[in-house]
Amino acid sequence: MNNNYLLIPGPAPIPHAVAQAMSTRMFNHRGPCFKEIIEELTRSLKKIFQTEGHLFILTSSGTGAMEAAVVNFLSPGERILSLMNGSFGERFAAIASTYGATVERLETPWGQPLDYQGLEAKLLQDREHRIRAITVVHNESSTGMLNDLERVSRIRGDHPALLIVDAVSSMGAVDLPIDRLKIEVCITGSQKALLLPPGLSYISVSEKAWQAAAQSKMPKYYFDLSKAREYLEIGQTPFTPALPQCVALREAMGIYFSEGQKSCYARHRRMAAAARAALQALGLELLVKDERYASPTVTAVLKPPAVSVDQLREMMRIRFRTEIAGGQGQLAGQIFRFGHLGAVTELDLLAGIASLELALQELGHPVVPGSAVAAAEGFIRKGGD
Ligand code: PLP
Repeated sequence: MNNNYLLIPGPAPIPHAVAQAMSTRMFNHRGPCFKEIIEELTRSLKKIFQTEGHLFILTSSGTGAMEAAVVNFLSPGERILSLMNGSFGERFAAIASTYGATVERLETPWGQPLDYQGLEAKLLQDREHRIRAITVVHNESSTGMLNDLERVSRIRGDHPALLIVDAVSSMGAVDLPIDRLKIEVCITGSQKALLLPPGLSYISVSEKAWQAAAQSKMPKYYFDLSKAREYLEIGQTPFTPALPQCVALREAMGIYFSEGQKSCYARHRRMAAAARAALQALGLELLVKDERYASPTVTAVLKPPAVSVDQLREMMRIRFRTEIAGGQGQLAGQIFRFGHLGAVTELDLLAGIASLELALQELGHPVVPGSAVAAAEGFIRKGGD
């Protein structure tokens, strides 16, 4: 826990003021104070999601919101297309099949772009409109790939399938206009770019999604969004909300909007460019090679042949108090990942890169001292966009 630099793809570091706001006194969640808070938070989150639709704050991690995104809008036996190129794409498909959907997997290798052409072909073939939903992960945290939602939305076109998006590790850090892209359901988690500890998730619901909800036969109780909608009308949640998180979210939103949405997107892009330049300066191979798909919030890199990911992470943790992430699932032991999101500062990233340089040297990987830091600084000095 004693890390100085938390550079994993979430939970991300949080501002001190947000941590302090968590230690609030308890108050009545069915009274006027909470009503004011939830109404304010809902307005703020709608701005971040860029939606005029409904927005709900759930007490759960991101996966709870993924489950809500499935069970509220689908029925057992319905056909869905799951676009997959990483572990979180797999999770969406797993949740949907757990609840009885007929899941068609449109898979590409982890770290490769989505099968956009396959999606187009499937939708064209589906003249009877049996496909009820498309699930897609915006920013695949397991690989550092930013999937092209503009393209997915364009391909979906007039097909009536709902577009259900996991934006857990991108919302707030990447421009994602939900209404303009006609995304019917979008979810995110509190612990990534949105400056809060884990514990809350957020879900947007469009009018078209409510029409699907009226037909939905999947079982649901805690995550029944029609209940959440009724309660939000009176400034409440159906069940006891995580009050400290809600109070702290107010603080987090203040900090987020004082930086400004566009500046926040630019900062994340800058940090990703800096991380990529630094890693390449060390002679390392990035998992996502095409810049267009490079995630602004997490960068994955293949481990050098002579170094084990566990050894590297342990050395960075113990010697330099820097925490980076390993690979997940099929990429475990093959890659490591730098998270650069939320309250990670540019100097935190430089420190993390210096830790990596030093650790690699100690583990015998040839490094020109200072080269990675210099490469990263080149991007950070540019500032702006
Ligand atoms: N989706 C993506 C893209 C994620 O990065 C994560 C968490 O890392 C999740 C879903 C799951 O979120 P949680 O761990 O908060 O349940």
